[in-house]
Amino acid sequence: MTLTQLHGDFFGLEMLLTDQEKDFLAQLRSYLERDVKPHVNRLWEAAEFPQDIVAGLAKCGVMGMAFPETRRFETSAVFRGWVALELARVDASVATYVGVNNGLAMGSIGELGSPEQRAEWLPPLSDGSMVGCFGLTEPLSGSDSAQGLRTTAERRGDEWVLNGEKRWIGNGTWCDVCVVWAKDVADNKVKGFIVPTSTPGYSAKPIEGKISLRIVQNAHITLKDVVVPESNRLPGANSFADTAMVLRLTRAEVAWAAVGVAVGAYEAARTYALEREQFGVPIAKHQLVQHHLVTALGLITSALTMVRELSMMQDSGTMGDEHAALAKAVTTINMREAVAHGREARGGNGIVLEYDVARFFADAEALYSYEGTREMNTLIVGRAVTGHAAFV
Ligand code: FAD
Repeated sequence: MTLTQLHGDFFGLEMLLTDQEKDFLAQLRSYLERDVKPHVNRLWEAAEFPQDIVAGLAKCGVMGMAFPETRRFETSAVFRGWVALELARVDASVATYVGVNNGLAMGSIGELGSPEQRAEWLPPLSDGSMVGCFGLTEPLSGSDSAQGLRTTAERRGDEWVLNGEKRWIGNGTWCDVCVVWAKDVADNKVKGFIVPTSTPGYSAKPIEGKISLRIVQNAHITLKDVVVPESNRLPGANSFADTAMVLRLTRAEVAWAAVGVAVGAYEAARTYALEREQFGVPIAKHQLVQHHLVTALGLITSALTMVRELSMMQDSGTMGDEHAALAKAVTTINMREAVAHGREARGGNGIVLEYDVARFFADAEALYSYEGTREMNTLIVGRAVTGHAAFV
């Protein structure tokens, strides 16, 4: 299948991918345009997740692309970034669902799990027979989760007993398995546990009334004497530094998704500007409307070149926490400004779901805050460039 150049990819960077990668992305784009895009505004309004896309995306080969056990072909971080961009360009909630299942849940198991855990959990999480989530944030601990986690893990013989609450957990109301992060009461270190959501004592309630990413089902989870065997503890997760390693990888993909959201809004605004007439001409002929479009395109292009370089660093093994943090902060700042230009170029229709830009505009807010707020990512980079940690 032929991949056509996106209007938002002004430098034609996607065209530099291999033929196999371009074919994959063309097929994914075709599935998203045909089976997902026509439904997203209705789903957003109803705050419903379309369960049928679990199988659809698995069939496209999108899940588990990072791991030898589950991928169709060897993939680079650059290529996986383009996949995140393609998903977010159509819908940020769909991209978030994939990011949580692939990057956070499978990423924790793939990077920090034992060979047995990888063999047991990665295949079902990639073929759509299971869905995963990642439980780190708590009602009283968000940005400070490195120190502030209150969920406890207590070892009793060959089992662990988990108690606590988790908040904001994407896919958390309906998924099959949750990677729960808790403090071991014995050594006060953060450890990771694979918890099937059917385990007695695990309960999840939806967070309602969101104005952003309404399709994503975010949960408030309660863990009351949840018992899991030692074989469900991630052996590679022995302190928050190990959790942070997973977050570094997913933060890089969120940076790509932020570019995708901006591209989606820009393309919808561009189409509208060419069709909508005022003063007897398409509004695209007015200089100030062109200013909105070109400003958005500039923000997108600088963010896209940045994430591409970032992923090349990841592929060569030189990407650090501070690099992913800088990219996540900058691309989400650019995204927020770009979607605002897209919204403005649509006038009143810019705040109506039917005209597409409004959803991107609202969804941008959640991407701006999750996977580390701008402030937290700024502090990570600030520590790297000054040698001083300024978190407290
Ligand atoms: P807080 O930490 O309370 O921060 C509030 C404000 O204070 C922010 O602006 C923050 O930057 C600022 N602030 C805090 N400390 C400092 C400081 N030292 N210096 C300067 N400013 C500071 N979590 C998961 O574990 N799993 C998920 O799947 C998940 N999905 C999410 C999906 C959505 C839609 C959202 C909104 C969140 C999700 N999160 C998830 C949680 C997300 O990671 C947190 O919201 C984020 O880390 C911020 O934490 P908080 O909301 O508690 O804000």
